[in-house]
Amino acid sequence: MYHRLVIKVGTNVLTRPDGRLDVTSISNLVDQIAALKRAGVELVLVSSGAVGAGRELLPGRPDDGAVAQRQVYSAIGQVRLMELYRQLFAGHGLLCAQVLATKGDFRDDLHYDNMLNCFGALLRDEIVPVVNENDVVAVTELMFTDNDELAGLVARMLQAEALVILSSVEGLYDGPPEDSTSKLIARVTAGDASVEAFVQSRKTTGGRGGMATKLRIATETALEGIPVLIGNGRRPGILATVLTGSWPGTTVMQ
Ligand code: GLU
Repeated sequence: MYHRLVIKVGTNVLTRPDGRLDVTSISNLVDQIAALKRAGVELVLVSSGAVGAGRELLPGRPDDGAVAQRQVYSAIGQVRLMELYRQLFAGHGLLCAQVLATKGDFRDDLHYDNMLNCFGALLRDEIVPVVNENDVVAVTELMFTDNDELAGLVARMLQAEALVILSSVEGLYDGPPEDSTSKLIARVTAGDASVEAFVQSRKTTGGRGGMATKLRIATETALEGIPVLIGNGRRPGILATVLTGSWPGTTVMQ
């Protein structure tokens, strides 16, 4: 039984292929998180989706990767995202809170302690912290590689018992995921060079860059004694399996 979890949900689980927020998927996740709360688990949600939500609110802008455009998308999108979370959690009688962080907050002792104290107070009050990168001010050296990195840092800061990473893939495979002979790897030992070599080679051929970061973060986190469960956030009821020990994706462990 886990008492403290960090759950990271990626943009692909929170948005539809056309980039709009997938309210049904977000609602399903909130239902599952609420069930974990009722089971007595303390949890922190790390949620992407602000930039996607912003794009939905301001359609038709050129998507040229300009920093200012990303800042605008995230600034308006984060409000939209939190508005949705607030309503959905309220449906379960739960309060949620917005926590925005930059990489600098983990480097500086004062900011680190402030964040840690805040998480402690929120969890004590049974509030669900919803964490995202502060994309409005996080530019270049203040930026996390992605929210997987942020989630790994939060999990270590809070000494979580597990980090759950939900994306649109089932987990790590022993071959190309699109190949029907490839098998899902249920357990990876942190630092297993053969798995790393495979995922890395996929990245350099332009295959799955996202999985390479996930494995790196999962390895670092697992080596700190926190198992990392990677799975498909659209799989019905996936979060309940965290408690039953029948995780359908990949677990990275020490
Ligand atoms: N912080 C970004 C957002 O909310 C997502 C970063 C990521 O995808 O890892 O849109």
